[in-house]
This record gives sequence, structure tokens and C-alpha cells, in this order.
Amino acid sequence: MAIKVFIPTPLRPFADGASTVELDGRDVGGLLTALTARFPKLAKHLYQEDGELRNFVNVYVNAEDIRNLALRDTPLAPGDEVSIVPSIAGGAPDVDLSKEEIARYSRHLIMPEVTIDGQKRLKAGSVLLVGAGGLGSPMALYLAAAGVGRIGIIDFDVVDHSNLQRQILHGTADVGSAKLDSARRRLADINPHIQIDTHEVRLTSENALALFRDYDVIADGTDNFPTRYLVNDACVLLGKPNAYGSIFRFEGQASVFHHEGGPCYRCLYPEPPPPGLVPSCAEGGVLGILPGLIGVIQATEVVKILLGKGRSLAGRLLLYDALEMTFRELKLRRDPACPVCGENPTVTELIDYEAFCGVPGAQSSQETNREVFKMVEEQETALQDGQEAEVVFPTDIDVSTLAERMQAGGNGFVVLDVRDPHEIAICAIEGTTRIPMVEIPQRFEELDREKEIICHCKMGARSAQVAMFLAYQGFKNVKNVQGGILAWAREIDPEMPTY
Ligand SMILES: [Zn+2]
Repeated sequence: MAIKVFIPTPLRPFADGASTVELDGRDVGGLLTALTARFPKLAKHLYQEDGELRNFVNVYVNAEDIRNLALRDTPLAPGDEVSIVPSIAGGAPDVDLSKEEIARYSRHLIMPEVTIDGQKRLKAGSVLLVGAGGLGSPMALYLAAAGVGRIGIIDFDVVDHSNLQRQILHGTADVGSAKLDSARRRLADINPHIQIDTHEVRLTSENALALFRDYDVIADGTDNFPTRYLVNDACVLLGKPNAYGSIFRFEGQASVFHHEGGPCYRCLYPEPPPPGLVPSCAEGGVLGILPGLIGVIQATEVVKILLGKGRSLAGRLLLYDALEMTFRELKLRRDPACPVCGENPTVTELIDYEAFCGVPGAQSSQETNREVFKMVEEQETALQDGQEAEVVFPTDIDVSTLAERMQAGGNGFVVLDVRDPHEIAICAIEGTTRIPMVEIPQRFEELDREKEIICHCKMGARSAQVAMFLAYQGFKNVKNVQGGILAWAREIDPEMPTY
């Protein structure tokens, strides 16, 4: 009588990599004996010295936990499926549910995959959300409602009008106040039975390990590369699973890193892209609904990890396209040469992630520009040898100097807005020349080489690339407006709408 046995990811290396195997057995004891006979290396991972199943191993027949039944006496019938599920908490946690909590979670308690035992695991469990923004909002709301006993949130931001389109933890009345205040209020209202820890700090290499150490699962809701690598490395160093999500425009990604022997973020992306290559949501936009979906996927993974149930996204990258309404899945493998989770890791403590990701300000601006230029070069132009020697590098100009220059007038300079037309429709500085960045390689000859070219975009990243590009094309007097039109709106024209 062939019975299908599911082998969990961490035990697969001891079973020749098999995820399922068909074996004969009349009862669970006989089946496990057949399993360890076929894969002898499994035995010491399943059994203690005295022959009992190890504490962190649960055995299910179909959906039923038979840990507390005598293994040998649990009969099997044709078509039964046996799953070996390692639990992360190990045994029922030592917490109780009150009468109110039992009523609140009743739809969980009646599910065989949860039950009172699972709900106690959620209550005993803890998760740290990095960011109370687009991804952190739905995660926090659902994890609080689901009864995860302790939810930590790291954020130091203030609610802005432009957040409300997607960051549903916060409301219009919260604009101007700390995100953690509105988060705490909202979550306490959803579920007064849980503990909410707020950490109003910027996550850094100095505080990450101390902050993460106290939580079972870390959920990465960040929107920038330095923090994403920092979260990854801290999770690997501490051995914590990382429920990951990221969003841009209409597309999202989700996975679980460093869990069940699976890969980490650096196995997937050993190094960050050059600065400016991948725009942020603030630069490129994001569909407000998108983080709802991706954040709920992350929250689902957190709950499954705490319950020790189901098949996680470890080893898989889920890709979602809202415009096409498609989900795709890529297999991820742990990279034995990974600098942080590989066999000979070179990253054994947290590093300077701003410098690692080449964020402007972390190194001299000329170096940053050179990196930016490399990207422009690869993407848009093939530079001829020897030209570099004659390059006059662009310099920065601040918005108040620009405003004075424009006020004074004169035709010795051109202010070049390199944003897209739909951005210009929201706001623009009067009297600028407008060529979208993507058209610059074809249209830069329209610009007068005798004049000073002052480039600006939304925040200064794209225009810095354009400025470098122009310098390499032989323009001798190019400037980049620091902070872009957002700085202009802040300091020169507060009436200007922003985005
Ligand atoms: Zn790795």
C-alpha cells in the first residue's frame, strides 16, 4: 500500500533532495521506519537518541496532527498522505486564550490547520515590521487582527498627504503626525489583546541586531536598497526568517528569505543596482492597491511561519503583475558562494549599507556621478576612447541660487526639466526647456553648447544622470539642481502642488 510522504525543505538534503516519496506502510511507525531505511541520514534528524520523535518534528496524517498519538498505532489507509512538519516554536506554547479571545478567533479555531494550539502559537509569536508604509500597513492590520501576540514596528516618518493613497494604517486626520502614533491607535482598536512595540528610529547597522533579536519573524516593508540589504544581512546573522515584499508601479515581488534552508536576498541579488537605475516609488509611482496585495501575501507567510504550517515562499520568488493580472513563480536556489549565507561568508557583521549601495552623500559626489555615468553609458551610449580626459564634470546648484538666477534673467543659461510629460502636468517651473530623460540621447543636440545647462527632475537623481551624460557629450558647463522640483516647491514656491 503506497503512501505519499511529504518531506519538508530543511530535511530534503538528507533525503537526496526529494520533496515527496512513496513508501509502503500500514501504520505511521512502519512508514517512518521505511523512510529512514531508504534515507538513513534522516534518522538522526527525526529521532532522539531514545527513539522518540524529536520535539520540533510534527507528523500529520492528511490534515491531522498525530504527534500525541502512539505512532505505531496510527493506521494508514490507501490514499492517505503523511507530512513531516518541523515546527519553529516546538510544542504548544505556554499561553492561554481568554473567553474574549476564543470568541474573537473562533473562525481560526475551527480550522484543523489552526485550532486552539495554532492560535496560541500566534499569540506567543512575534513579528517585526520594518516600515509602517505601503507594505507595513496591510501587514500590520491583518497580523493584528489575526492575533499575532506581539507586533513591533520600526518607523520614524511622519504621515504625508501623498501616503494616504496606499498606506491604509493612516488617515487624513493623521497627516503631520508620526506614523507610529496612528499605527498604534489603529492596531489597538483592531485588537486590544495584542502588544504593539513601536520603535521610532531609523534602522541602522548599529541598532538592527538588537532590534531584530527579540522577534520570531522579520517582515521587510522597506522601499530602499540600503535598508533591504541591512534587513537581509541582519536576518541571516541572527537566523531569522525574512518575509520579503517589494513593489513598483504595477508590479510586486514576494518571497521568504533565509527560512527552511532556503536562499537569502543576496543569493538572488548579490549586489545592488547602480544608484538611479531602479527608481523608487517616489520617483516612479506605485498603484495604491498593489502594496495591499503584496503586504497581505507577506502577512500570510508570517502567519504560516508562526503556525509552522503549509509551504512557505522560501526558495520561490513570486512575481505579480497587476496590469496583466498574472502571478508567476521563479525557483530560487541558495548560492553556496553567497557573501552572507554561503559556505564561506565574507559578510560576518553588518556593514555600511549606504556606501554599499552607492547612495549619494555616502561618498564624494563625483564618484557617485561616475557610477551613474557607467549606467548611462551601458544603457544609452557608447563612449569613445579618450573622450573622458576632456570631460568637465557637472556641479550642483541649490534651488535658491537657481531662483535668483532665473529672477535676474539673461540668456546665458537654460533650465532643462528632464521629467516625463505626465509629471510636468502636475507641476513645473515656468520658463524651463523640457526634454524627458529617455529622449535625451536622441535630442541633446537641440541644446546650445555655448550655454550653461541647468538640469532638474523630481528629486535630483535622474537629472544627475542627464548632467553626466551631457558632460560626456562635451558640454562644458552643466549643473544639476539639488533636490529637484520638490526642493523648489518646499523652499521657493510653497503653493506648488507636489507628488
Ligand atoms: Zn544568501
